[in-house]
Amino acid sequence: MLLTLTCTTPNAPEVGYLLGKNPASVFQRPFSAGVVWVFYPEVTEDHITVALLTEIDPIGLVRGPAPLTQLGQYINDRPYVASSLTSVALNTAFGSALAGRATSHAERVSEPMRWRIALDAVACDAGEDLMTRLFAPLGYAVSTARLLLDPRFPAWGQANLYTLALEGEQTVRAALSHLYVLLPVLDNTKHYYVGAEEAEKLLAHGGEWLAMHPERELITKRYLRYKRPLVQSALDRLAESDPALRAAEEAAEQAEQATMPDGADSTLKPAAPSEPTPGLHEQRLHAVMAAIRDVRASSLVDLGCGEGKLLSLALGERDLKRILGMDVSTVALARAARHLHLEEMASAKRARIQLAQGSLVYRDDRLRGFDVAALVEVIEHLDLNRLAAMERVVFQHARPRRVVVTTPNREYNVRWEALGEQRLRHRDHRFEWTRAECRAWAERVAASYGYTLAWQGIGPDDPEVGPPSQMVIFDLHVDEAQTDEEATA
Ligand code: SAH
Repeated sequence: MLLTLTCTTPNAPEVGYLLGKNPASVFQRPFSAGVVWVFYPEVTEDHITVALLTEIDPIGLVRGPAPLTQLGQYINDRPYVASSLTSVALNTAFGSALAGRATSHAERVSEPMRWRIALDAVACDAGEDLMTRLFAPLGYAVSTARLLLDPRFPAWGQANLYTLALEGEQTVRAALSHLYVLLPVLDNTKHYYVGAEEAEKLLAHGGEWLAMHPERELITKRYLRYKRPLVQSALDRLAESDPALRAAEEAAEQAEQATMPDGADSTLKPAAPSEPTPGLHEQRLHAVMAAIRDVRASSLVDLGCGEGKLLSLALGERDLKRILGMDVSTVALARAARHLHLEEMASAKRARIQLAQGSLVYRDDRLRGFDVAALVEVIEHLDLNRLAAMERVVFQHARPRRVVVTTPNREYNVRWEALGEQRLRHRDHRFEWTRAECRAWAERVAASYGYTLAWQGIGPDDPEVGPPSQMVIFDLHVDEAQTDEEATA
């Protein structure tokens, strides 16, 4: 990832002091995600160009300290695009400038200078329009161009990547802080857990200009990954610095509440890229719960349980005496434990549930002896060449009476403007199936392992492209299920 900033100003070499980096030498420093370099391709009396180059280690990102493992894949675009990792690099390289400090020539810290900022690949899920909405109000002339996925194969279509050039009069600190805050906002993917510290960073770096920015709400939401309490408190604090703004916000909130149906709250919905239809995941979870109740299950294993949304519903189901949530991600499991309040749970309830770390592609005796196994939006996270391993683990070794699988219906993606036909719903999806592909897979699995199968759509059934999500219910052939019951009776 390469970012260049060119400043046109008298005595241009002095800008090196403001940036805290010597134009005569190359700065190199490792940071959490790789290595950052700073160097100056050009320095003259009237302009100076500084380049920030990052080399991201995609494997280190996944294997590294826990927070970074959320990227969850070895091959990703992170080494090449401007993203939240760029902000970390900016802070590593220009920490004092971002804080408004300079080792020398401090009188120039608050001087607006003419900047041209250039990035060759900016990840943005919401198009050129968003770039303009974010940067233009800050006083930049914005030019962008969308990149093709592969220029050699134009038919593959466009990527969600853009070149970005910004020109405007800014102080050094402002220019850096705009990039620090807005690059991750464009990208909309944070590589680490977003907590209260992130809200502090947002206010520290954005405080001066964010309160006045017409898109402050959007910026805050996206920066804080839609974590509602964090977003609300950050917006409150921004509003405090401007009483007029505060009044306007309260009025807007009241208007919004007045026009919304009961319980609906558009600001609560998850980030657009994963699932543009509000409430779809809710519907999916309820469909899965119905399929669990349907066989009067007394035990459930939730494979790839994530943050434990299904587990939470399952705990509400008295008949489920034994519940196991398994996930490969310890970060996800930690969140599940927190969401479920495992620590404070009454002992009788606590005795019904367990969380375990494990991978679906390895045989695991802990998965045996359950009535139902659920895989909710999990299989599409597995590489296609690991699916067969998962099938053996689930259908041959664990072998529950019923297996409930949900996965996106790729055909439906065209109905979501933000996605279009080419895109998958989530960065970590390795594939998404059409209804026919899903059915073909399910039929093969059912036939191979002695299960019968039922298919069910989830969400509104579009006459052309079907429902947004699909569920397959596999039932162990009756004779075997009965023999099983007799054996355990
Ligand atoms: N079922 C949850 C989470 C879906 S996201 C829900 O519906 O909300 C997919 C989950 O699968 C992630 O939590 C991911 O960590 C997990 N996962 C991916 N590969 C896995 C594997 N090989 N074994 C177990 N879990 C896996």
